[in-house]
Amino acid sequence: MKTRIQISQNQLAQLIDLAKLSLPNESCALLAGEFEEKETYTEIRVLKILTAKNADKSVISFSIDEMELIDLYEKAEADGLQVVSIFHSHPSKPIPSSTDLKFMKINPIVWLIYSSSMYEFRAYILTEKLEEVEIERS
Ligand SMILES: [Zn+2]
Repeated sequence: MKTRIQISQNQLAQLIDLAKLSLPNESCALLAGEFEEKETYTEIRVLKILTAKNADKSVISFSIDEMELIDLYEKAEADGLQVVSIFHSHPSKPIPSSTDLKFMKINPIVWLIYSSSMYEFRAYILTEKLEEVEIERS
């Protein structure tokens, strides 16, 4: 089943700001929202951005502290939302790194990546294979 992610221009602007503020390091956030099963695809609607600290403080990787992760999942749940996507930024191309691929396999939800050098968003999901996910700007 194909997946599409719907996100507003305003939310994308927030993520771009987060990426800029975190430079030179990678930034990260969880995106909370809803899943909707359509006839031919699954639509993911982003309703809330839960920004996180990059515990790695790195230009090539990110991680979120376990305690913060629990807190963010609880925040999403308190709003009746689910964590629908993982966002992080790359100072380089918006393509999953080998480390990303490892974690994408463990977290088979949509990964949204922003390149702060190419000013470009791309989304992917890794189930049996890596697939690019369509970004629908609302
Ligand atoms: Zn990455």
